[in-house]
Amino acid sequence: MIIIMLGAQGTGKGTVAGILSKENGWIQLSTGDIFRENISKGTELGIEADKYISKGCLVPDEITISMVENRLEELKNEKGIILDGFPRNIEQAKKLDEILTSKGEKVDWVINLETPREEIIERMLNRRVCPKCKATYNLKLHPSKVEGICDNCGAELIKRADDSDAEAIEKRLEIYDTQTKPLVDFYKEKGIVIVEEISQSINRLADEACKDFMRRIQEN
Ligand code: ADP
Ligand code: ZN
Repeated sequence: MIIIMLGAQGTGKGTVAGILSKENGWIQLSTGDIFRENISKGTELGIEADKYISKGCLVPDEITISMVENRLEELKNEKGIILDGFPRNIEQAKKLDEILTSKGEKVDWVINLETPREEIIERMLNRRVCPKCKATYNLKLHPSKVEGICDNCGAELIKRADDSDAEAIEKRLEIYDTQTKPLVDFYKEKGIVIVEEISQSINRLADEACKDFMRRIQEN
């Protein structure tokens, strides 16, 4: 089963994908995590990707798509894959369809997370990530049990560089609106989009969205 996470930055894609993969034994494939890992290791891919990521821009399609294609090949025997952060534009979505079709697969579900814009910026500022196991936390919404320490692996939590820069945050949200949001209609035409609202103002957080999603795909 192939599932795509859509939704702006800070809506909780990583958190939802993390819960679903843990509960179902699925694999979370986060392009942002792969890039960050390569940046911290100083690989050729990391050095190239960082030129774009540090400015809040998208990494060019040819780099991103071939990276995802390789990873999907490595994961071909997995029962479920959640794509978190890919595709990010129509070109990537079309390429993904081609790759999956050639393997006799398809995108099964798209989870579109919706969160009011005013909550999103605050969440990005309060986001902390584990550099080791990639778990995400939020200082207010779901803090780690011990402040600054990852619940899963004990590593010290960090703030992402691109979450500290107001200009990069604005840029990423603008790119989301113009390039990624059109994907919602692209997948709606295929009838596979499930919308999940996540908002603190109505006390509906990631775990509730996950339960609802599982209920809905089981009904189908
Ligand atoms: P966020 O969605 O919160 O910005 P991600 O971890 O998904 O964070 O991505 C971090 C950065 O990595 C993005 O701002 C972008 O520069 C790059 N990136 C991630 N996924 C893609 C993708 N599919 N295509 C191009 N660039 C990507
Ligand atoms: Zn960890």
